Amino acid sequence: MAATKSSPPKRTPRSRSTTSPSWTTRASGGLKILQVRSFSKLPWLVHAVSTRSGGVSSLENEKVLNLGFADWDTRENVQENRRHFQSAVGAPDLPLIALKQFHSDVIHVFDEAPSDPCRGDASITNRPNLLLAIQTADCVPILLADPKKRSIAAIHAGWRGTLARIATKTIGKMQMRFGTKPADLLAAIGPSIGGCCYEVGTEVATQFLSQFPDAPDYFDEFRTGDEPNPIQWLNRMPPGHQPPPKGVLLDLRKANRSQLLAAGLSSQNIFVSDLCTACHPKLLFSYRKQGPASGRLMSVIALRP
Ligand SMILES: [Zn+2]
Repeated sequence: MAATKSSPPKRTPRSRSTTSPSWTTRASGGLKILQVRSFSKLPWLVHAVSTRSGGVSSLENEKVLNLGFADWDTRENVQENRRHFQSAVGAPDLPLIALKQFHSDVIHVFDEAPSDPCRGDASITNRPNLLLAIQTADCVPILLADPKKRSIAAIHAGWRGTLARIATKTIGKMQMRFGTKPADLLAAIGPSIGGCCYEVGTEVATQFLSQFPDAPDYFDEFRTGDEPNPIQWLNRMPPGHQPPPKGVLLDLRKANRSQLLAAGLSSQNIFVSDLCTACHPKLLFSYRKQGPASGRLMSVIALRP
């Protein structure tokens, strides 16, 4: 694949499809949960991504399934929502291991449920009956399953975590601790803000371009057309006389898929949801769209004995 984009700027409409064939939407216990077909086939695996509606939290005159503690919601509501979600995914009995996420590359290995939540952005285990959880509202949730070594991971990848290569490092830790071969891994890249909606500053783009050879493929032109073409601007090293554009569109899912491929995963084992959180405010939560009063989605994965 070419490292730079040389084609002239075009304003083709971007796909807003909601039909990734590898993902399914299932109604369960009054909730709607998203799952990956290839994961669902494994009898020893529990997994799901939550959606917005069906909980006890009140947001914009609606009852929603907010699964993260937030200033606008009560602790009791969130705990009730989590119980409801765990029942819907068939894991009401498992300890939920949620992290205090902080956009880092800190990865935890769990042999048992911790007494207090750990600070970090990825968790891995090869022990059964631990429900690993990641909370998102635009960032990319990634679930990994190793059918050979029966081990799993849950990863939170926003732009900082992606830049810090948290997905690559998590796979490295699975190799080290569990003997995982990347070629055996199945990966679910869940709903997140898409390349259609995720504007970032050129300083973010510059950081990606300085670290990833295929980074030009993660970016698209800014939407308004008033600014200089940011891709051309970014590819010009050093920049020319044009003023820098204000922002570019970043496809974080593509960036993370690229990391998984580079780590040795096979492309047919990577299942990317094409649902954009910002494009689907009725189905999902988006921090970019809704601000601090946004709810949190949860992606969970567990091994069954
Ligand atoms: Zn979008």
